[in-house]
Parts: sequence; structure tokens; C-alpha cells
Amino acid sequence: MPNETEKDVLTRRGFLGVGSAALAAAGIPYVENLSAQESAYQSVSERSKSDPGPTNPGVDAANPDSNNPPPTDAGGVQTFKYPFSFAHKRLQEGGWSREVTQRELAISKTLAGVDMRLTAGGVRELHWHTAAEWAIMLYGTARITCIDAEGKSFVTDVGDNDLWFFPPGIPHSIQGLGPDGCEFLLVFDDGNFSEYETVLLTDWMAHTPPEIVAKNFGVSQKALANLPKKEKFIFQTAVPGPLEDDRRVAAGKLGPSPIDFAFRTNKAPATMSNKNGEVRIIDSKNFKISTTAAAIVTVKPGCLRELHWHPNADEWQYFYAGKGRMTVFATGGRARTMDFETGDVGYIQKTLPHYIENTGTTDLKFLEMFKASVYQDLALSEWLSHTPPELVAAHLNLDKATLDAIPRNEPLIMPGS
Ligand code: MN
Ligand code: MN
Repeated sequence: MPNETEKDVLTRRGFLGVGSAALAAAGIPYVENLSAQESAYQSVSERSKSDPGPTNPGVDAANPDSNNPPPTDAGGVQTFKYPFSFAHKRLQEGGWSREVTQRELAISKTLAGVDMRLTAGGVRELHWHTAAEWAIMLYGTARITCIDAEGKSFVTDVGDNDLWFFPPGIPHSIQGLGPDGCEFLLVFDDGNFSEYETVLLTDWMAHTPPEIVAKNFGVSQKALANLPKKEKFIFQTAVPGPLEDDRRVAAGKLGPSPIDFAFRTNKAPATMSNKNGEVRIIDSKNFKISTTAAAIVTVKPGCLRELHWHPNADEWQYFYAGKGRMTVFATGGRARTMDFETGDVGYIQKTLPHYIENTGTTDLKFLEMFKASVYQDLALSEWLSHTPPELVAAHLNLDKATLDAIPRNEPLIMPGS
């Protein structure tokens, strides 16, 4: 908006007390008793938007909807974005780890995320935790191991877009394979989770009296003299040998676990795919062991992940390609729009309406994660198209042709204009 428009001037005069008759004569509807929140809906002049003082141009440019919010934004809405770029990177020989939890993003109470890199041979050491672990491979290949609740082993190799899921208390490990290791995203079903406070094999042994460890294994204390004195967490070792060999020796006489802790995303059909984008819903219906539901979403440039909400759980998001924006309508006249790009975490509280629009020139890709066994969403268009039309028309002042045009089959992603 290059210049202050006539409507801007008249609207501002409205605040200053110009009477309804004068506005009606100018063809401008007059709203009595504007509240502070309602006034935020009025358009603001360029002069008022100006920002002559100090600023951070890089951060402002990456966050246009915070720097210059759309006029529909209003009221105080808790921030729902945190870039992994801000998170501390714990670097060790063999790889690194960084996390976005409730401590970084206060609103994210039900889920937390960890971004981890392992070199070829680099190991995230044998461990478990009280939260369930859902994971997606972002780069390269890895070998994962665990034992199930019966003590039977599971060993497999995972690659591009593959998932895994380890329930609470199930001990597991991850190791990067050749040629260049891996990077993956972990999602835990506890906002307060910390990757740095898990039950680690080395940490546990270093904090158990050595005579107890010796008695436990039926060996001499001398044989245990080289046990690490503190945790390893991530460490470098050799790339493991063939998968079949590891599987056979780990299974032993018990045999392998009948449970599949991994999910081959690229081999499963998409839930919805068309020229506007793609949605893959993966929950306990198709990935039986998982109690964390996921939607893996691609939105084409200009297209829209339609206005919707989730009745059963908060949504934790990870953006891993492209650029987009999201408005969360937070009730009571409050709404906020924030911008997202690769590496950002987003969060929406249970039942709050939102959309995600691709604002870039490349595919926008993100994860929708839920602490729920089953994925659920409801869309505005399916609600309105399955409610008596006279009732909807009376709310929204829509004519029949417009009402009839509203999609009835929950398209998930709408085309760009
Ligand atoms: Mn883990
Ligand atoms: Mn959603």
C-alpha cells in the first residue's frame, strides 16, 4: 500500500469521533464503540507502519508477517515458532545433537524435537527414555537396534524418509552408515524431554559400584577396569558389517522380534496426492507400534493447506523445505501470523484453527506431529458443506452459488489463485 488511502483517513477520523452520518455519507460503514482489539483490524497508514529506529534487517526480512502483520492479526498470542538454528548444538566426535523443547518454545507442552547428525560409524549410544521416540530420516542411512518387551532383538537399516518408533523404556541405538552417515529428526511425546538426560549405558555403568557390576555379570572387577568413567552419548567407531550378520548374532536363540519398529514411507501409498501437493498420514492404523501420529505434507508454490483444526491433540510441526506462513486463530478476537522456513518448529494447541500457505517459489514440506495414536482433523470447508446451507448463509452472508462452490470432500490442499 504505497499511499495513505481515502479509507485510511476516514477510518482514522472514525477513531477521532467523526460521526456516523459523515461516514455514511462517504459510503464507509461506521462501527460503534471500537474496542482496542477491533481497532487492530482497521488498516494502518504507511506513516504509522514506518520503523526509523534500529532494527535487525535479516530477521525482519525472514519474518514479514511479524514485522508487518496482516490487519486480521490481533491481540496477544503466545509465540509458536522456534528455529533449530537458535538451539545449542552439542558437538562430539561422531556427530551432534540439538533440541527444541518446552524450555525453548514455551507453548510446546506435549512434544519436543531433536535434530541429530551422525558420521559414518558415529553412534548415538545404547539408551532409553521415559518418552516415546518417533523419528524420520532426513539424510543418508543409519542402522538402528532395539530389543522388544520380550527381549527379542530388532536390527534394521533405514534411509531417506524412513521412520522408526521406540516406545518408552525400550532400549535402542542409532549408528550412521557409509558413505556419509545420516541426519534425522526425533520427536518425543513430552514437551519437557531432554536428549541430554536419558538412561545411557555408559552413564549407568559409571554410576554403579564396580563390585556390583562384576557380581551382576559374574566376572572379575579386573575384567571391567576399562569401563568408561562417564557417558559417551555420541562417539565415533567403525562402520558396522553386513546387516544380516548383526541380525543373526543379536537374535541368538530367542529369534528376532515380530514387531516392526520401522516404517518405509517411500513404499507406502500417499493418503492424497495431486497437482497442489501431497499428504501422507502415518499413525497406528498403518504403523502399528506408533502412538505418535504424523502427517507428512508437501504444498506446491502458492497453494494452501486448508483452514482446519485437530480435535484430539496439539500439533508440533517441523518445516524441512521451502517457505510458508501460518495464522493461528486463538479465540477471543486474537490471531497471529508467523513465517516458517527450513529448520523451523511450529506449534498449535489442540482445536485451534490454522492454515499453512506456501509463500515461496519451491515446494513447502513439513511434518504435522500429534501425541495421539490416530490422526484426526476437521476442515472448515467440510464443516460448512455438511451443515444446513440456510444456517451457514445466515452466518456468513454468502449467496447460494458461493456456498455450493465450497469443497465437500476435504481436499486438504487447495490450489493457488
Ligand atoms: Mn532415543
Ligand atoms: Mn494442522
